[in-house]
Amino acid sequence: MKSQDLKPYLKKSFASLERQAVKSFNDWIRWRDSREIRDAFICISCRELKSVTKMHAGHFYSAGHYPILRFDEDNVHGQCERCNHFLSGNLNEYRQHLEKKIGKDRLEILDQKSKARAHRIDRWTLIEIILTYKIKLKTSQNHVLEKTHLPDSRSDHFNGTGSLQPHRRKLFQFTGGHIPAGTQIRREEDPQEEKQAKQATPQEVGSGTN
Ligand SMILES: [Zn+2]
Repeated sequence: MKSQDLKPYLKKSFASLERQAVKSFNDWIRWRDSREIRDAFICISCRELKSVTKMHAGHFYSAGHYPILRFDEDNVHGQCERCNHFLSGNLNEYRQHLEKKIGKDRLEILDQKSKARAHRIDRWTLIEIILTYKIKLKTSQNHVLEKTHLPDSRSDHFNGTGSLQPHRRKLFQFTGGHIPAGTQIRREEDPQEEKQAKQATPQEVGSGTN
């Protein structure tokens, strides 16, 4: 870290640094988990598609009980309010989908880290988190802006006959069409949608584009 980067934070209270670190880290999580479906995200636990304005940064190992994992990217993912607050994290579903998302090895590392003794984070680590995630977010957003080709942004959501690709139809309706070019949605995330689309007539499939 350069000394001029540190300057704005040197006189801040610990509580203020903590708030800023949470914001900086959560802003990154929000971007990371919604950048492929602009304006929306899929909850890590229930897999429902929700508006990004409703996203919580949900900890698998809670921030209160596992402070060492409070700012660990593998431990925090976009989650809906229902799962985060009302289902206490919906942890069985969370674990199942977390393993699919980060892989078995990284999940095992997370489990190992959770067994470490609680540690108190110091102000220098908080400043490092604030700066690291501000830069990471800005760099990633600039990268996406450079890659976006607006004139054809809808084209890859349609098949050769002009009908919306079945696995993108629900998503497209939900977001009002604001899906960036190149959005990749794994088909296994929506098997029901695909099944329904196979049974539908071409006209019914096409109706989703209006
Ligand atoms: Zn949920």
